[in-house]
Amino acid sequence: MTRHVRHVPPADAEARRRAKSSRVYSVEHLPSYDASFYEAARQGMVRIADMTVPPRDGKCFTVPAGHFFRIVCIEGPQVGDLNLWNRDDISERFYSGKTRALQASHVSTGDRLWSNFPYLRPMATITDDTLDWYGIDQDGGAVHDVIGTRCDPYTNLLINGVEYGRCCHSNLSRGLGAYLGKPPREVEHHVHDVLNVFMCTGFRSDTHQYFMKASPVRPGDYLEFFAEIDLLAGLSACPGGDCGSTHSSDVAKCHPLLVEIYKPAAEALAGWTSPKRSNYSRTHGAA
Ligand SMILES: [Zn+2]
Repeated sequence: MTRHVRHVPPADAEARRRAKSSRVYSVEHLPSYDASFYEAARQGMVRIADMTVPPRDGKCFTVPAGHFFRIVCIEGPQVGDLNLWNRDDISERFYSGKTRALQASHVSTGDRLWSNFPYLRPMATITDDTLDWYGIDQDGGAVHDVIGTRCDPYTNLLINGVEYGRCCHSNLSRGLGAYLGKPPREVEHHVHDVLNVFMCTGFRSDTHQYFMKASPVRPGDYLEFFAEIDLLAGLSACPGGDCGSTHSSDVAKCHPLLVEIYKPAAEALAGWTSPKRSNYSRTHGAA
């Protein structure tokens, strides 16, 4: 990307650039991740359901509050695009941008997935990640990002001039439509920016442009979540496959993804309740 710099730096440009950075949010004020609670709940949990999402398709599933679910790589490297809604009110949904600001651009064990306004509460907590060893690579890449939006047929038409109906946005729209008994076009506005499960992404250091590279995920790897509220989830097996080079077409090699749902032993959740929605007054400064 060419930057059109037209202005001469001021005399104190370097001093301005050396301003000390600080975190945008004081995250130490957020509820801490109680590892011992989640670990105790994981012990003895039993699998009660599973579901396979075929390649280049999307499906919805529900997870009761207090249950765990895993997204599992089963046949080969595959990226999944995840949406979350409150099962009983889908106007509450995953807020990728605020999750990025409160947690990080890439999420792993201990990170919360936050919901939108006016709710703003953890919808799910990541409780295990078999790719946590990957860290940040030499290109600045990492896995499980909350940067990207989702591949979609609108951007694809804009850039490539052709229609493609198996983008993650369309897969999630079909999946949600099937769950709600409505055509995709009537529900696609509920589809939102995703958690890119297993996807390896970052920003180029020279241009800050968004990049992707082949996911390091292999069969047997999984990302595990604890449902903090009753969830409706949508998962798309991205047409980009491992997203090593392309998406929004039938070119990449794609694989299914497995969803597993686990119920913990009842006593493990004694005293636990779902987080409350924000109690902000919603007056917004009006008299
Ligand atoms: Zn996709």
